[in-house]
Amino acid sequence: MSQRRTLIAGNWKMNGQKADGLALAKGVAEKLAGAKPNCDLLVCPPTTLVGLVAEAVKGSGLHVGGQDCHAKVSGAHTGDSSAAALADLGCTYVIVGHSERRTDHAESDAVVKAKAEAAIAAGLVAIVCIGETLAQRDAGQTIEVNRSQLVGSLPAGATAANTVIAYEPVWAIGTGRVATPAQAQEVHAAIRAELVKALGAEAAGAMRILYGGSMKPDNAKELLALPDVDGGLIGGASLKVADFWAIAESC
Ligand code: PEP
Repeated sequence: MSQRRTLIAGNWKMNGQKADGLALAKGVAEKLAGAKPNCDLLVCPPTTLVGLVAEAVKGSGLHVGGQDCHAKVSGAHTGDSSAAALADLGCTYVIVGHSERRTDHAESDAVVKAKAEAAIAAGLVAIVCIGETLAQRDAGQTIEVNRSQLVGSLPAGATAANTVIAYEPVWAIGTGRVATPAQAQEVHAAIRAELVKALGAEAAGAMRILYGGSMKPDNAKELLALPDVDGGLIGGASLKVADFWAIAESC
């Protein structure tokens, strides 16, 4: 049996305002009060809702995370949020290097690494996202692209307790096109092999690697059963209590 506890993480992206965000988070927390799925559950609301959601679900066992943080602790960075400020609001995780941030904000591996290090310094678990585009997959570069992003983005001092890797093929995010189990397992195994080189067998064996990209209730079970898939980073399907819960119950 895997020593890794499955993590199901919802990335709400830029969706939700007070009323629907609270209803969603409370809905998941209520489910959690009635049944304990075989996984850790995390929701990552937009920064505007993080404090409200964290207060609302306090003590429920539902984790709350940010979707991004700045690499610096404080200073002249208009519009950004520090990892320490997210922790202060009740976050225990933060996503860094999501492909939408890499694309929309031109975030390089070096920036993602610095953000992950800031997250860890603030006591958060960093969820470090990597993944290839369709053009890169079609060009046969999938393993090399993910290897290079992983090596470039992995925070110094990464351990299984402070870092989670999320493999998210860009062509599968929000498209309804999901990686096949064979495609997902191939990349996850390659990521773990690279982690062995970087961190040693023990840390690599204990580190969680999530799959993200159109994971839904009807494909979650098959993906989550793969030997090197230790959970999911869920976008669209995390916006409905029933769908998110159905994925949690697939663990
Ligand atoms: C994501 O945003 O990380 C994601 C995987 O989105 P979706 O599940 O909608 O593809």
